[in-house]
Amino acid sequence: MKTINPDNLIHPTQSAYGYPLLIKHLLYTPLATRPDQEIVYRDIKRYDYRTLRTRIGQLANTLKALGVQPGDTVGVMDWDSHRYLESYFAIPMMGAVLMTVNVRLSPEQIVYTVNHAEAKVLLVNSEFVSVLDEIKDKLETVTTFVYISDEPSDALPAGFAGEYEALVQASSADYDFPDFDENTQATSFYTTGTTGLPKGVFFSHRQLVLHTLATLSALASPATQGRMHRDDVYMPITPMFHVHAWGMPYIATLLGLRQVYPGRYTPEGLLELVQREKVTFSHCVPTILHMLLTNPAAKDADLRGWKVIIGGSALPKGLAQNALDHGIDVFTAYGMSETCPILTLAQIKTSLQGDPTHELEIRTKTGLPIPLVDLQTVDDELRPVARDGKAVGEVVVRAPWLTQGYRKNPHASEDLWSGNYLHTGDIGVIDTEGYLQITDRIKDVIKTGGEWVSSLELEDVISRHPSVSEVAVIGIKDAKWGERPMALVVLKENCSAEAEDIKAHVKTLAEEGVISKYAVPEQVRLVEAIDKTSVGKFNKKILREKFETN
Ligand code: AMP
Repeated sequence: MKTINPDNLIHPTQSAYGYPLLIKHLLYTPLATRPDQEIVYRDIKRYDYRTLRTRIGQLANTLKALGVQPGDTVGVMDWDSHRYLESYFAIPMMGAVLMTVNVRLSPEQIVYTVNHAEAKVLLVNSEFVSVLDEIKDKLETVTTFVYISDEPSDALPAGFAGEYEALVQASSADYDFPDFDENTQATSFYTTGTTGLPKGVFFSHRQLVLHTLATLSALASPATQGRMHRDDVYMPITPMFHVHAWGMPYIATLLGLRQVYPGRYTPEGLLELVQREKVTFSHCVPTILHMLLTNPAAKDADLRGWKVIIGGSALPKGLAQNALDHGIDVFTAYGMSETCPILTLAQIKTSLQGDPTHELEIRTKTGLPIPLVDLQTVDDELRPVARDGKAVGEVVVRAPWLTQGYRKNPHASEDLWSGNYLHTGDIGVIDTEGYLQITDRIKDVIKTGGEWVSSLELEDVISRHPSVSEVAVIGIKDAKWGERPMALVVLKENCSAEAEDIKAHVKTLAEEGVISKYAVPEQVRLVEAIDKTSVGKFNKKILREKFETN
C-alpha cells in the first residue's frame, strides 16, 4: 500500500494496545454479557459459553501436547457439532490453521486436499474411519489422528492418538492464547468446483473478523424482515466443512446466541431440532430446503418464525413460496468459497414491502451487497455496465475478506484477481434498487441463435408449475441454433404431469412476456433425480455429459 504522507501515519504511544483483529477477540462480548447462554449438540450435549471457553483452552492444550505448533495445519472431518465450533476457535487462536475437510468429496479428492494443505493432525469422526482406512497410506503429511465419537464407550481404533472427548477432558483449560499479526492465516478449505482439481482458499484472522462484523451488521440492520437479533436461536444447515458454514458460527458466537448443532443432516432430525429447540435462524442450499419441505414430517411441523437464508444456488420462486406457506422467512444470500463467503443478502427494503408477489420477487433475487463489499457487473474490458436491471455483466468484487489467491496455484490466482478485482465467474444484472440477480455461471450460459438464455431464470419459471419438485436447465448443442435449453424435471410425488404440460406452462409465461419466446425449451425430460455436487448443487457438467448424446 502506498503511504500518502509519512507525517500522517499514526505513531502509537509505546504502551498503547494495537488490538489486532484476532478470532479470540470474538469471544470477549459473549463471555462478558451472556456466559450462561447454551450450546446444544443434538440430544447428546448441552453446555454454556463459559464451558465453551474452557473447552477451547483444553482443546488447544490437547493439540499442543500432540505436537501442533503455530503455523501447522489441523484438519477436521466431522459433522456439524460443538467439537467443530471448538475447533473453529481453538485451532486458529493457537496460531495454527484450521482445515475444514470436505467429507463429501471422493476419497481420492480428500487425499489430494489433505496432502495439498499439508495437514499435520486430523480429527476424524468415527463415521469416516472406513474412508480413512482406505486412504491413510496415501496421506503424506499427517502424523497424528484423533478419534471423534459420540459413544464414549467406543474402543479406540488402532492408529489413533486418542479420543477427542477423553483428551479434552484430561487437558488443562489454561492456555495463554498469544497475540500475533492479524494477517496470520486462520483457515483453509478447498473449492468444490466441477472441473479440475479442488483449489485451496485461505483466510486470515483479520478477514474472518471483518466478515463477521460486516455480515452481522447487514443481518441486524433491517427493521423487520430477514433480521438476526440477540434472541435468535441459531442452527447451521450448511455444513461446517464448507466455507465456515458461511461464517455464521462466528457471528452467532459474537452475538451470544443460543446455538444448536445438528450432527449429520437427516430431514427428520433437523425438523425435530428446529421445533424442539425453537430454532429461529438457519441457512442452507435450496436442495436441503427442498428435502426438508418435501419430507412427510414437514406436513405437521410448526416452522413459523424460522428465518432461513438460502445460498449456494439460486432460490427458485416455487420453493420460496412453499417455504413462505410454512411461515418461514426465507431469503437469498450469495457468495462463493473464494469470498469467505457472504457478498449479498436479499433482504426486502422497507419501501418495497407490502405486495406479496413483489416481496417474493425480491426474496429470490441474489441480493444487496453487504457493508464494505464493492460489487460490480462489468463488460470484457472491466467497465461497469448499466444498473438498469437489463444490462448483463460479469460479477467482480472487492471486499476485505476475499481469498488473496489459491494455495500453490499462481496461474489460477492471477486469473481470479485479473485487473485487481476478484472474478466470480458469475454473470448477472443489477437493478435500479441495487439488487443483484445472477443469471448464470459463465460456463453454464446457454447461447441460442446469438441470444442468451438464463438457465436460472428458466428454472425459476418452471419451478412455478404446481407439479414440479425440482428442475435443472442445461444447454445442449444444436445444429441450427448453436445451443438450445433442455429442462430436466423431477415431479412432485403423486403428480402425473407430462413433459408437454410443463412446456405449455413455460409457453404461456413466454406469451405473457415473463421470459423470451426463444427461451422455451423444446426438450423437457422427466427424470427420477438430478445429479448434485458434494455440497448439493446441480452438477451441470455431469448433466451436460449425460444428456448431450441421449
Ligand atoms: P461455492 O464456491 O461452491 O460455494 O460456489 C459458489 C457459486 O455458487 C457462485 O459463484 C455462484 O455461481 C453460485 N451461487 C452461490 N449463491 C448463489 C445465489 N444466491 N444465486 C445463484 N448462484 C449462487
